[in-house]
Parts: sequence; structure tokens; C-alpha cells
Amino acid sequence: MVVGDFAEQIDLVVIGGGPGGYTAAIRAGQLGIKTILIDEQTNLGGTCLNEGCIPSKALLHAAEVIELSNEAATFGLQFQRPQIDINKLRSWKDGIIDKLAQGVAGLCKSNQVQVIKGQARFLNEQSILVSSDAGTSQIQFKQAIVASGSSIVKLPSLLKNPKDSNSKRILDSRSALQLQEIPTSLLVVGGGYIGLELGTVYAALGSAVTIVEMTDGLLPGVDRDLVKPLANHLSTTFKNIFLNSKVSNLEDVGDGIACEIIVEQAAAKKEKFDYVLVSVGRKPNTSDLGLETTMIELDKSGFIKIDQFCRTNNKKIFAIGDASGQPMLAHRAMRQGQVVAEVIAGLPSAFDNIVIPAVVYTEPEIAWCGVTDIEVKEKGLKVDIAKFPWSASGRAMTLANTNGLTKIIYDPDTMLIKGMGIVGPRAGDLIPEGVMAIEAGLTLTDLANTIHPHPGLAETIGEAAQTALHRQGRRSKQS
Ligand code: FAD
Repeated sequence: MVVGDFAEQIDLVVIGGGPGGYTAAIRAGQLGIKTILIDEQTNLGGTCLNEGCIPSKALLHAAEVIELSNEAATFGLQFQRPQIDINKLRSWKDGIIDKLAQGVAGLCKSNQVQVIKGQARFLNEQSILVSSDAGTSQIQFKQAIVASGSSIVKLPSLLKNPKDSNSKRILDSRSALQLQEIPTSLLVVGGGYIGLELGTVYAALGSAVTIVEMTDGLLPGVDRDLVKPLANHLSTTFKNIFLNSKVSNLEDVGDGIACEIIVEQAAAKKEKFDYVLVSVGRKPNTSDLGLETTMIELDKSGFIKIDQFCRTNNKKIFAIGDASGQPMLAHRAMRQGQVVAEVIAGLPSAFDNIVIPAVVYTEPEIAWCGVTDIEVKEKGLKVDIAKFPWSASGRAMTLANTNGLTKIIYDPDTMLIKGMGIVGPRAGDLIPEGVMAIEAGLTLTDLANTIHPHPGLAETIGEAAQTALHRQGRRSKQS
């Protein structure tokens, strides 16, 4: 059934209502561009709001409360093990999602963005077919933005029998966040940030968590000195962390999942877990959009190639967010969404940000921006590193949590800040100082001379800067 084609050509069609797409549509609406936003899901908000950033952080907050109550015994406060009402916890998390989704829908409405529920597919470089339960319709557009996001990578090769691909005991990040029950034992396949965040949640709720990671460390690609305090902590809250290890032959045996684990090339061990969470990455949603009809170029990983104005090689079509490259993070998608709408409106805007911060919301958190140790080694960059351990921070002591480190990577000639890395509680709330320092072209001296509230965790940034300046025999007033 055809539900009706749009008679007029629409100024702008946005495919995907995640953080990239809704930000672009709302900004375009504010700029007076007639905009249609298409998403196949009932709720706007995309992966981030419905099955990513927001539900995971809500559950991580619950995990933090449990962990803090356990740790309080060290300074004389003894709590009972909490009674967990999983239904109430789930409704609280779902309530946050609903409230935020309504907020996004309200912003679309108040900015005259027309929202259509359906699956969009390019017919050619000027029209899109939208399919939904109600039928299909065609939209002619002047310009389009692809903000179709990413989806979970599935590894059928991990299964002993293909029939187990629908096993309710084999979770992915989406089903793990639905929080159907608390497993007695949980195997997490993959030691990236999503696996560690969800492992942290379930460990706090009472599951015996085992992590299996293929490489020689958790969080591949993150500086080792930042990962170490987290790895130390997780070794006390997780049952096992197996590195250089592989899982295979996952099989639903009715009351659990049987599998084989090869640890450090030893003989395969047979194990059984109540549930298994497979968290091995995400891939861009670019294969089912009819992009071949538009001549848009993809890179070898399937990401749409864009320039700093988010333009593809087809001048009518733009791309943003996870579909357009790494890092696949919501705040990159949102900034691109803002930029692309302004570019389409003819404003002088570009995605010219120097750094994109990243945060792992575990306990302790890890956050970084700009140049990393790994990059320094790979590219042979000439930098110095200022460090301040949180064991010397008064504020960390008063929080009974000195498991942290702040480091600043800077150019020893110009003293310009090039990177920052922080591990410790609330590191994610401290990293914007590093982002701002790099974007604004600040020096180590600027950070050393900035008054940080005392006692505060942000003081560790000033202390790291001052320590490095004194070590070099430079007075902090010099620039
Ligand atoms: P998405 O949010 O993926 O939205 C794309 C939308 O497009 C979806 O609604 C999809 O249904 C729709 N769509 C796709 N194809 C079509 C089509 N053909 N027609 C119609 N609609 C279509 N990032 C952070 O920055 N911080 C975090 O803490 C964080 N935590 C995360 C935790 C988890 C468990 C996961 C899975 C991800 C997390 N992320 C986090 C990543 C973040 O969710 C993504 O980077 C972000 O959602 C990307 O936004 P986007 O707009 O590009 O796409």
C-alpha cells in the first residue's frame, strides 16, 4: 500500500533520529529549513538514548551506590547488603528514557520538524522511499543527511549450534540493558568499554562476572597507566579476567550456557555460565540504505566518507554520527549534527574541533582527550608528561578513593597542552578542562596558574602542571 507521496520537494530529510540526526533536524528547524526526520524506532533518541549511553549510565549509578555502600565499611559505616527490586530498578531506568524521548519529540515539534516513523531507503540521489506498517511513501528532497548510526556486531562463529542465536541466555548490549534478571554467573566476551561497563553493573548487582579479552589488556587502545587502576579494581569485583584468551562453542544447555575458554594458548577449558554477554563491537548502518543509488563512497570499514563540513562526495547528501566514522560517540554525533545544519543553512560552520573526549564510565572512570601515550610512541612525538597521583590528593582521601591518576601531555618547547588523561572517580566530569585547554591553546603554565577549588579532584590537574613546571625549574608565572 502506498500511504501517499509528498507532493512538494522537501528542503531537508534526515535519516535516523539518534543524537546526530535529532540534533541536526532541530538545529535545521531553528534555522528555518523545512525538515523531515525519519526513524524506524518508536522512540526518538537512537542507540544512545534507548539502548546505549543513558540506560547504561542509569544502571552504573545504581552499581556505584552499591559499591560505595560496600566500601563505607572502611571508615566505619556498615550497611546491610541491599535488597534489589529489579522491577523497580528497570522502571526507573525506563522512565528516564521515556522522559528524555518525550523531550526530543517536543523539541522537534516546537522547531517545526516533521517526524515520520518508518524505514528509509534512497531510490536515487533526490528521493527516498519510506516503508512502515502503514505502507510506503516517497519523499523528494533537496538535501539529505544520513544519520543512521551503528549496530551490534554479531559473531555467529562463537556458537556451537546456529539455533542458539536466539538463546535468551546469550545477551548483547541491548538485551543486557533490559535487565530481565540478575545472572548468578555472567561471562562477558570482550574487554572493551561496553563490556566493562555492563560487567560492572552486573557484578554490583551480585553476578559472578568473568571477562574474556582476546588482546593482552583490557580496553585495547587506551593508555596502560590509565587502565591499570581500573584493572586493579576490577580484579577485586570480577571473579576472573582472562587476557590473551578466546571463547568458543557457546551452547545453550537449558540451565545455562556451556562454552570453551582458551586462556593464553593453554588447553581449552569447558565452563558453564548462567548467561553470556557478547560485546565485541559495533558496525556502521550503511549497507541497507540504498546508498549505491547515490554514488556515495564508503571506506573499507563501511563508514561513509565525509569532509570537515560532513559532506559526502554527493553534494546533496551529508553524513554524521556513527555512520560516518570513528570515534563512535554520541557527543561527536551531536556536534556534527549542529555543524551540518549550519553548513546547509549557509552559515560559516565546520567540524573543526581539535579533540573529541572519551570516557569509560566504570569505577574508577577513565577519561582522556587529545594525544595519548600510545600515539606518542607510534608517531615518535616530542612531548613531556606531567603526572599527579591521586594518592596525594586531599579530596581523593576524603572520598576514601585514591585509586587515580591525572596526567597532562604537553609540548616542552611551546608548553602547549596536547593531551590529558585521567583515571579516578568522576574523571569524565574533569576531562572538559583538558578539552577546553587544548581547544583554547592553553599552556601548562595556564593550568598551573588557574585557581582550582580546594579540596577538589580538579586540583589534581593544577598540581600535575605545577609539579612538572617545578621539575623543569620553570616558575609558574612564566609562560
Ligand atoms: P544512533 O544513535 O545509532 O541512531 C541512529 C538511528 O537511526 C537509530 O534510531 C536507527 O534505528 C535509525 N535508523 C537506521 N537506519 C535507518 C533507516 N534506514 N531508516 C530509518 N531509521 C534508521 N556514546 C557516548 O558518547 N557515551 C556513552 O556513554 C556511550 N555509551 C554507550 C553504551 C552502549 C551500551 C552503546 C551500545 C553505545 C554507547 N555509546 C556511547 C555510543 C552512542 O550510543 C553512539 O555513538 C550514538 O548513539 C551515535 O549516534 P547516531 O546519531 O550516529 O546514531
